[in-house]
Amino acid sequence: MATVSLEKLVKRYGSLEVVHGIDLEVADREFIALVGPSGCGKSTTLRMIAGLEPVSGGNLKIGGRVVNDLPPRARNLAMVFQSYALYPHMTVRENMGFSLKIAGQKPEDIAPQVEEAARTLDLTHLLDRRPSQLSGGQRQRVAMGRAIVRQPDVFLFDEPLSNLDAKLRTQMRVEIKKLHAKVQSTVIYVTHDQVEAMTLADRIVIMRDGYIEQVGTPEDVFQRPKSKFVAGFIGSPP
Ligand code: ADP
Ligand code: MG
Repeated sequence: MATVSLEKLVKRYGSLEVVHGIDLEVADREFIALVGPSGCGKSTTLRMIAGLEPVSGGNLKIGGRVVNDLPPRARNLAMVFQSYALYPHMTVRENMGFSLKIAGQKPEDIAPQVEEAARTLDLTHLLDRRPSQLSGGQRQRVAMGRAIVRQPDVFLFDEPLSNLDAKLRTQMRVEIKKLHAKVQSTVIYVTHDQVEAMTLADRIVIMRDGYIEQVGTPEDVFQRPKSKFVAGFIGSPP
């Protein structure tokens, strides 16, 4: 059960507190969008969940277990960033299998997992190419493929589509939705694009200045924004 719980979660950089004790319960297999203006603490929150930043206070639980002190690889999650960070000298196949290889799996066990992920993401015909021979959207799909071969319980996305043009973004939204339906993992998806959040998520979490301002379904936050800030951000009618 890949629930994710944030309990009074705090982040400080030196004397500067940027996340002020936030609480959030993400259900197993839920798709949560974390939104808010630049600098409100979205990436910091995601990086704490991923284990890339230590927490300064409170508890972080995955599947009910406190993971504050666990390294990223022990959390069974995968993170997809806006920069694809593919290895340029490796083929798509090698990029997608790399994490399994360093985990010590045998080539004959890795191949079918990579091929399955490639089928899910429509990458089969691209497996022998290198990243430089791919379009932006294809690279982003490889980055997702690399994440899903690890069969994570939890997927973390940090603005994965913000480097893509509008048309591709719309297309990739559909891909991400399909991916979630297929792999059945819990998703926490950071974006500053409210349309992306509204179309993808089961629930939306609106952050402001290191606090959570409102949590609700897309309909909830649109129809019943708690504040002018939320209404303005979501684009609710006045
Ligand atoms: P968002 O992803 O919502 O744009 P961030 O989580 O990146 O926001 O940043 C939240 C706040 O924390 C910002 O004020 C940012 O300047 C600050 N911050 C982020 N990373 C660091 C860091 N490594 N050192 C100091 N301050 C940081
Ligand atoms: Mg960010």
